[in-house]
Amino acid sequence: MEQGTLTNRNHQGSVGPPSRRGFLGWAGATAALWAGWILGIFGGRRLSATAGEEAAALPEVPGNHLVRMQKELRQALTRPISRRRWVMVVDVRACSGCQACVVACRAENNVGPEGSYRRVPEGPAGRFPNLTNVFMPTHCVQCDDPPCMRAVPAGMITKRPDGIVEFDYRRLRGSYAEAARAACPYRAVHVDQGRLFTHGTPAVQAYETRPFEEYQGQWQRVGANTLSGAARKCHFCLHRIEAGILPACVTTCMGHAVYFGDANDPTTLVSEMLANYRWIRIHEEAGIEPRVYYVEEPIAGVRARNCATCH
Ligand code: SF4
Ligand code: SF4
Repeated sequence: MEQGTLTNRNHQGSVGPPSRRGFLGWAGATAALWAGWILGIFGGRRLSATAGEEAAALPEVPGNHLVRMQKELRQALTRPISRRRWVMVVDVRACSGCQACVVACRAENNVGPEGSYRRVPEGPAGRFPNLTNVFMPTHCVQCDDPPCMRAVPAGMITKRPDGIVEFDYRRLRGSYAEAARAACPYRAVHVDQGRLFTHGTPAVQAYETRPFEEYQGQWQRVGANTLSGAARKCHFCLHRIEAGILPACVTTCMGHAVYFGDANDPTTLVSEMLANYRWIRIHEEAGIEPRVYYVEEPIAGVRARNCATCH
């Protein structure tokens, strides 16, 4: 397990306690993001629409961590893809288990009832009477040496130069989809069965039939370009990243628990976090080089705990 060194920080990504101004700024930016996201879905146009399309800039709020990460994301997009190293950092101390990121992820990627790209398992920590629950968001960690890729014929799963593991939805179906699902040690893959939440109800709803983007393609859950039979998983919201927008789970998290950025740039917030906190990566011992890092600092009132105990 590799570790960084320990300091304190606030949620604006700098050392020190969170300020009221910073919190108000974060709340304003988050509200603007939610408004855009909701209008995007229910107004018939996705906020994340098309890679290359100019996306709305976040409001200028000094010290806001979402604004900072979006600027860093857009800066990274100006560099060649091979010089970007996308990573996610999860601060489990800040996760309340609200599941908002799971809902946002489902809506963003039009995931059906038989699976989820993202889960937030919880477990008890501490000793009576000092008990609490710890929540730990999990999803595809974009392994650098992916077991799923080794389990299927070459080309069905590829590792992009920026680190995102890409599934070929046209080919990764049936028994190949099952092989990829079985090979993932993170249980991050599910096979889309084509079912709808509205099955058995009088009418299929528009949110289930709308076209959506993944891996540079346009898909639907019913009709043409269906994903029925395809293996599916988190891709860090690749379609949003390429349009200069942070992943849906990051912009949704009210707890400031999820961070995203380019770890190749030492000035980014994620690089700062990795340099200043102790952290772990789940299943690091397997040598598959996951790209999701969990902050492993002490949780108030709880004795030393290692996330890897349960994962
Ligand atoms: S939205 Fe944030 S706080 Fe809520 S479950 Fe997801 S990671 Fe945890
Ligand atoms: S976490 Fe699972 S699905 Fe994601 S790259 Fe690694 S093995 Fe493949």
